[in-house]
Amino acid sequence: MKLYNTLTRKIDEFEPIEAGHVKMYCCGPTVYSWPHIGNLRTYLNEDFLRRTLVRAGYDVTHVMNITDVGHLTSDGDTGEDKMLKAAEKEKMDVLALARKYENSFFEQCQALHILRPTVVCRATEHIDDMIAFVKKLEEKGLAYVAGGNVYFDTVKFGSYGTLSGQNLASLQHGARVEEDTNKRNPTDFVLWFTSSKFENQILQWDSPWGRGYPGWHIECSVMSSKYLGERIDIHCGGVDHIAVHHENERAQSEGCFGHKWVNYWVHNEWLQLKGIKMSKSLGNILTVAALKEKGYDPLAYRYLALTAHYKSPLLFTFEALDSAQKAYDNLKARVIEIKKNSQGNIDDAAKAEALARFDAALFNDVGTPQALAVMWEVVKSGTLSAPTKWAILQEMDTVLGFDMADFKEEAYTPDAEIEALLQERKEARAAKNWARSDEIRNLLAEKGLAVKDMPDGSVQLMRL
Ligand code: AMP
Ligand code: ZN
Repeated sequence: MKLYNTLTRKIDEFEPIEAGHVKMYCCGPTVYSWPHIGNLRTYLNEDFLRRTLVRAGYDVTHVMNITDVGHLTSDGDTGEDKMLKAAEKEKMDVLALARKYENSFFEQCQALHILRPTVVCRATEHIDDMIAFVKKLEEKGLAYVAGGNVYFDTVKFGSYGTLSGQNLASLQHGARVEEDTNKRNPTDFVLWFTSSKFENQILQWDSPWGRGYPGWHIECSVMSSKYLGERIDIHCGGVDHIAVHHENERAQSEGCFGHKWVNYWVHNEWLQLKGIKMSKSLGNILTVAALKEKGYDPLAYRYLALTAHYKSPLLFTFEALDSAQKAYDNLKARVIEIKKNSQGNIDDAAKAEALARFDAALFNDVGTPQALAVMWEVVKSGTLSAPTKWAILQEMDTVLGFDMADFKEEAYTPDAEIEALLQERKEARAAKNWARSDEIRNLLAEKGLAVKDMPDGSVQLMRL
């Protein structure tokens, strides 16, 4: 198994710390709004990685945090408090708001067949652990108190900037002039706030430095070490996290533990939503629920995500989603046919050969587009038997995650356009115009519909 590692800036051979076991930490959502399909691309890619690791024979412990306190609108220490701002706007209690969007996040993940992490941990439920961690940093001389807040001293931590390939001097030089004059260095960041412009922060806790609340970054260092230990194999997140959030997490963790923390840093490229206007009001923001309302199957979006490598930006357009929906409908129709004929002998050699190519694509830095291409070769093969195809597809599906075993024809109520096509087909058949009748059958198949002629002369429409 090979993985691109942001830290080494190359594709590295993957070696777990413990044989057969992978410890994987993924930064979770800030639960102040509906998760949009951009956020979800990152979680889909992490799901592909996790399932690939399982396919490669590893037992995976996957930990993800829920940020329900401390994240400001900039990833640094400036801007507004995301949770507070949203709670005021929605006139809701902050924690009630957090739970509402956390539930929405997991509902959308479920619709996309993203596996739930082994451990999901909320920042607000780990405040004591955070205080203990900050105390350790203070004891080690890596933290200082200024103006009531506790800060991490990035200059005292020798290798700040290594992850994003920047040296500290240029970072300091290039850093924006900070409003926060308490900081000794522009790259320093808050570990614990007791004094900020958010004096009205509702969520506050007692601490050795006074009543207050944590900075955003500390939660990931604290919860990952609590559930995975002080050394982890893989740390994931979106590319936007590299320069600030992950540099800060790394500085805190390695500063506290005194040794290397993460072996492989895996960063997902963005879904580009250029030209797509999204407002925070529901209905306009592109969520999975909104796609469903527009008539798309959430799994068509999963399909679209599989077509692009996680390290390539993916430009979202409705044309691209239409193509993904078509391809997914086509896949469904063909798999349903394969399953109908799946009883019989399996060609084990052919199965092993196809799966070897599928695995080779995935084990090479999670090459999902290539793996999808191998899947299509199998589906369309003129030489493989249906039982062999089905045996192969079931194994591929453990990573693709479509739950092909559940694919079935569904009854469908036609709209006016479909009714008109059915009427035309009826007339064509009465006139023995079989060519036109077949043409209409194909048109319906393109729309994901199968037409079945019943013995009593009526027709039944099935959704493929
Ligand atoms: P947040 O809830 O803002 O902390 O973001 C949750 C995750 O979504 C982070 O890992 C971000 O990197 C990721 N993310 C945000 N926008 C996009 C996007 N357009 N495409 C892919 N990932 C994104
Ligand atoms: Zn994080």
